[in-house]
Amino acid sequence: MAAMWIALTNDADEATVRRELQGLGLWATPAADGGEVTGLFVAEQSQAVDDAAIRAIPGVAAVSRPKSATPQLDRQAGRDVTVAGWTFPADPADTGLPLLIAGPCAVESRDQVAAVAAAAARHGARWLRGGAFKPRTSPYSFSGHGESALRWLREAADAHDMAVVTEAMGESHVDLVAGYADIVQVGSRNMQNFALLAAVGASGKPVLLKRGMAATIADWFASAEHLLAAGAGPVVFCERGVTGFDPTTRNLLDLAAVAQLRHVHRLPVVVDPSHATGRRDLIAPLARAGIAAGGHGVVVEVHPDAREALSDGPQSLSFGELAGVASAIGLPAAPRTPPPTRPIPHPESPAARV
Ligand code: PEP
Ligand code: MN
Repeated sequence: MAAMWIALTNDADEATVRRELQGLGLWATPAADGGEVTGLFVAEQSQAVDDAAIRAIPGVAAVSRPKSATPQLDRQAGRDVTVAGWTFPADPADTGLPLLIAGPCAVESRDQVAAVAAAAARHGARWLRGGAFKPRTSPYSFSGHGESALRWLREAADAHDMAVVTEAMGESHVDLVAGYADIVQVGSRNMQNFALLAAVGASGKPVLLKRGMAATIADWFASAEHLLAAGAGPVVFCERGVTGFDPTTRNLLDLAAVAQLRHVHRLPVVVDPSHATGRRDLIAPLARAGIAAGGHGVVVEVHPDAREALSDGPQSLSFGELAGVASAIGLPAAPRTPPPTRPIPHPESPAARV
């Protein structure tokens, strides 16, 4: 909800008008002109209410809203949006199956991503994630296998008819990433890298826009506007936790932001409990919470052996834990794998030559 200005009639009782507004869920503060209150300013924190309901309050002369700072995003809001074959319904009451996006933090090898893709597909994931270019706090940490990783990721996704989402970390490799990805990810640390946003937008690809760790919702929307203004496909928002104050979790998952995006702004939004918590034991409950708050889906990190992960091991799920998360968000259980059949010995093998 954008800020709003309410002009009062000359005979208005300002306190009564404010009480009525409060009844509608609007938080108004008086704006005085030379000591005389001539209008009320409604803060961003207020609920979305039709102008007609406000104009009906005795003492209200007019309601005006500042011009939207995000006209392109406004066009996307309130509509069903289809990205890489998945439709994100605008109507919050439309609670179909959630989108599961799963994959390793970093694509470490061809075998690793192939194994994760198979497990992810088996448990209902439709989009495969994985970093080829990794933003790392330390310059000495593993920073991704670059184009080889993009190739392995694409191959693994294609084997299971999944879409690829992967991060473009710098302007110089946007075209390379866009050549392999169905959806380009803009990471938290780059949410306000405006040159990168322009380059990603110019690729015309849909974007998974992760929220900056100290970004307001208005900042997040402004970044989406940069992408859309530059030509991006639809923008899917990803809440991945904001900087908190308690060291027991990596970040603070802002579920109110998820609810606002879905219920108020009617935009596509997914929740990343992996980066929000940094701990695999909290992923299933927060995935459920994210969906309950209105998230269209969840993004989770998975690794065949988290002990060996080159990044984000503590938050990476095993394949068994992934099954638990999929079921926690209501996806149907994967079919049981048939017991392995005893291999038929080759006629030339020693076992056949008894
Ligand atoms: C990621 O999803 O790989 C990642 C680095 O996350 P974030 O940008 O949210 O920290
Ligand atoms: Mn990660």
